[in-house]
Amino acid sequence: MVPASSGRGDLEEEKGEKLARRPWVDKEQCISCGICIANCPQVFRFDSHGKSECYDPAGAEEQVIQTTAIDLCPVSCIIWEEE
Ligand code: SF4
Repeated sequence: MVPASSGRGDLEEEKGEKLARRPWVDKEQCISCGICIANCPQVFRFDSHGKSECYDPAGAEEQVIQTTAIDLCPVSCIIWEEE
């Protein structure tokens, strides 16, 4: 028997994944250079204030997020947030 959906359904649930950690942007430190968004657009985007935000933490493999965004952020303001 299949349990009824909670109805909350975020992107992770839709993909059937449970992440141990997710990238988090310290927007106070973000200088809006766009590197993480250009390199990893499946995970990061600009918010309404022109700062980077992680909109889909399951959008790429952890290693890809690490090497294309976290390692290249000039102010090191993207960190892993443990669940
Ligand atoms: S690379 Fe860093 S400073 Fe640049 S937009 Fe992304 S989070 Fe902001």
